[in-house]
Amino acid sequence: MTEATGIVGEFFSLKEETDADVLAMQCGDFYEFFGDDAELVSDELDLKVSQKSSHGSSYPMAGVPLKDLTPYLKALVERGYRVAVADQYETESGHAREVVRVVTPGTLLETSDADAQYLAAIVDGGTNGFDSRGSSAAGDGYGLAFADVTTGRFLVADAEDADDALTELYRFAPVEVLPGPAARGDDELLNQVRERVDAALTLHETESFAPKRAAHTVREQFGRETVERLSVDESTLAAAGAILAYVEETGTGVLASMTRIQAHHGDDHVTLDATTQRNLELTETMQGDADGSLFDTIDHTETSAGGRLLKEWLQRPRRSLETLERRQKSIAALSSAALARDELQDALGDAYDLARLASKASHGSADARDLLAVGETLAVLPALAGTIDSAPDLADSPLTEIVNRPDREAAAALRGTLEETIADDPPSTVTQGGLLQRGYDDELDEVIDRHEEVEGWLDGLADREKRQYGLSHVTVDRNKTDGYYIQVGKSAADGVPDHYEEIKTLKNSKRFTTDELEEKEREVLRLEERRGDLEYELFEELREDVASHAELLQDVGRTLATVDALSSLATHAAENRWVKPDLHRGDRLEIEQGRHPVVEQTTEFVPNDVGMNENRNFLVVTGPNMSGKSTYMRQVACIVLLAQVGSFVPAKEAEVGLVDGIFTRVGALDELAQGRSTFMVEMSELSNILHTATEESLVILDEVGRGTATYDGISIAWAATEYLHNEVQAKTLFATHYHELTGLAEKLPRVANVHVAADERDGDVTFLRTVRDGPTDRSYGIHVADLAGVPDPVVERSRDVLERLREEKAIEAKGGGSSEPVQTVFDLGDGQFRGPANADGGEPDAGSETLDPETERVLEDLETLDVNTTPPIELVSKVQRLQERLEDDD
Ligand code: ADP
Ligand code: MG
Repeated sequence: MTEATGIVGEFFSLKEETDADVLAMQCGDFYEFFGDDAELVSDELDLKVSQKSSHGSSYPMAGVPLKDLTPYLKALVERGYRVAVADQYETESGHAREVVRVVTPGTLLETSDADAQYLAAIVDGGTNGFDSRGSSAAGDGYGLAFADVTTGRFLVADAEDADDALTELYRFAPVEVLPGPAARGDDELLNQVRERVDAALTLHETESFAPKRAAHTVREQFGRETVERLSVDESTLAAAGAILAYVEETGTGVLASMTRIQAHHGDDHVTLDATTQRNLELTETMQGDADGSLFDTIDHTETSAGGRLLKEWLQRPRRSLETLERRQKSIAALSSAALARDELQDALGDAYDLARLASKASHGSADARDLLAVGETLAVLPALAGTIDSAPDLADSPLTEIVNRPDREAAAALRGTLEETIADDPPSTVTQGGLLQRGYDDELDEVIDRHEEVEGWLDGLADREKRQYGLSHVTVDRNKTDGYYIQVGKSAADGVPDHYEEIKTLKNSKRFTTDELEEKEREVLRLEERRGDLEYELFEELREDVASHAELLQDVGRTLATVDALSSLATHAAENRWVKPDLHRGDRLEIEQGRHPVVEQTTEFVPNDVGMNENRNFLVVTGPNMSGKSTYMRQVACIVLLAQVGSFVPAKEAEVGLVDGIFTRVGALDELAQGRSTFMVEMSELSNILHTATEESLVILDEVGRGTATYDGISIAWAATEYLHNEVQAKTLFATHYHELTGLAEKLPRVANVHVAADERDGDVTFLRTVRDGPTDRSYGIHVADLAGVPDPVVERSRDVLERLREEKAIEAKGGGSSEPVQTVFDLGDGQFRGPANADGGEPDAGSETLDPETERVLEDLETLDVNTTPPIELVSKVQRLQERLEDDD
């Protein structure tokens, strides 16, 4: 292969210089792929492969026309390939080629997806891979940066630890991640990134992560002062710098549209870790579908930018009462002013994605239609302002301030320029004229006038010739090979005048030209070229002018998106009878007749109340399987979350004390059903909550502890409850099928029992879906087993066992031989296990003498294990060890 010379050789040497998977090299009017690359694109994209011979060898070759490259690029990049594009340019001695762009998932500009497309960098601050001479500033957290090249959005965030970092990554769902020098060697971290985020991992040149160099790059881009004001960690700046360098080096050419850097500090945002986002099905369901997610349910936005913003709001609920109340005021005004809201949404229907258009302008890929779209979208702003102004409720709301945020005069001026210059219906090519209106440039006007004159002359030529020479069947047309010609039907062809010069004979006609026609043709060609050049030049100036207004366009885009997102929330509130929650900084959470925002769409939903306060902040939720426990708890979490988005909520009335974080965990058994989780994951997630939740957090535990044997499970659930209640003091809802846990309410002051009621009549269980105070008092499980046809002796025996469990009696395992083991019981009184010898009222003797000494010792150890003081995780491993000892035994 290395033998190849000429075009093929050039291809291979260019390919060698890039780290791309595929190279597309311009050869005249085509982009060509050679060798393996040709095979690859033909496999992936059904391109035809031919053979190109070069010095006796032959190479596979595939090509696409220049103007068709974009869809192929997009398709390759979406399949995960990095594609280098080499362009051809003229030199004194012919032409040369050079790689001008490497297109990767995170730098693809040609996306048609409305979602944000983030490129991320993650830097491990503890060991950032550089010896940070004397720079103690490198914290032990992680630094993160996110950039969307399609909109110019740029965000940075400090993350405290790997978990935090993964949460942010999950939230932004980047399509490409650049791990820093240390992070790329951290297999555990990379595996987690792979698991949680569907992104390409790119090992970018490590130098660009070097703290000093990166910080310099960031300052150059956003200004020294801005960067200082951000006050983020060194590792975060390193991440930001690396992204900027990457965007520059891949030749994406949108640095100019990255006008602003925003820092996300944790304190104003509700902590919402990845598991919680997934459990609450914020943007996709557990099955991974966007349909049926919370976002999908409440999204009535008109524009893609509005949709992106609303999604961002959902994923980043806020803690600032002021921010939330401001959003509430706008939504309240919008939801009652239905007509004005319709008008706003109508106007928004004409808006294009301004941030994306600004990026395209900066990149130089915007065509005249794009600039026309910029102008039309800028016109939406005054339309919104007008509607808001003339509806008193809206005028008095924060919406007035929102529409006045962008520089409206500058926006109007830019819009004026565009409206006066771009033609009404311009073509999508920018080199062939037809882009601009008359009156913009004198020279252009002259060229256009003359061009139209000549075209008029050509248009009238056929008729004139017919009349003058009495010819029938005459047409005037042009094509590539013949240029302009006069075509005369066979029958009339003999009668043409002498000055007609025949150029071609066809089956039914002949083609002629004349000196005059040839002269006009030369003029047309000259004019066309002049017009194309001149228009392109003027258009480029215009496009640069638009690009230089990137920040203004982003401001206007943001305003339109904000009005869109607020109107969407208002629409949903009005159509679904949602109410404005009372927000406060206290502990009270009172929801009257709350509903689940998604389930209520498809089900006749039975509303439920919630009452929590400083004296009652831990609810143990019991009830039979399928009664609605999980739904009830998720409903509470969704209502709190929506309240902290500033949205109205599905309830008759709600009072919500602001929380600093929402944590949800679903027991491994329930998750296992969906092939997701293991008991180990369940426990590490539980441990994470116990470490990070605070007294201002909302914790939802759904059957946690279920993923293991009963006594382990109860122990863990019991200990976790105590810890959450005593130490963390978070607002907690804990659904459990361990009936034993309902006893906690008597022991711990702030724990209360609630249950989802069911009705049993005539052997039928009816789920009432109503949540009532107190523990559930029936075991519907056995009843269901009965209904399902489990043999009678088994059902009877389980009733018997249950009875004894209720009376806290030891159960003697039934069976033939006396060597059968006897189970211990869990003592509700002191939260300890007791061996059968201590269990009163049982028949312990029958079995106890059959216990072997090791089992006895295990039981003793179990007895001395203090559930109250042992940390949950340690408790798990201790119980596991005890189990192993029992297993070793038999
Ligand atoms: P559990 O967690 O107790 O097993 P789920 O919460 O999973 O029960 O609910 C079981 C079914 O009942 C789900 O299909 C859910 O949609 C429905 N459901 C739950 N709560 C209600 C309610 N309040 N009104 C109507 N249907 C409900
Ligand atoms: Mg459940």
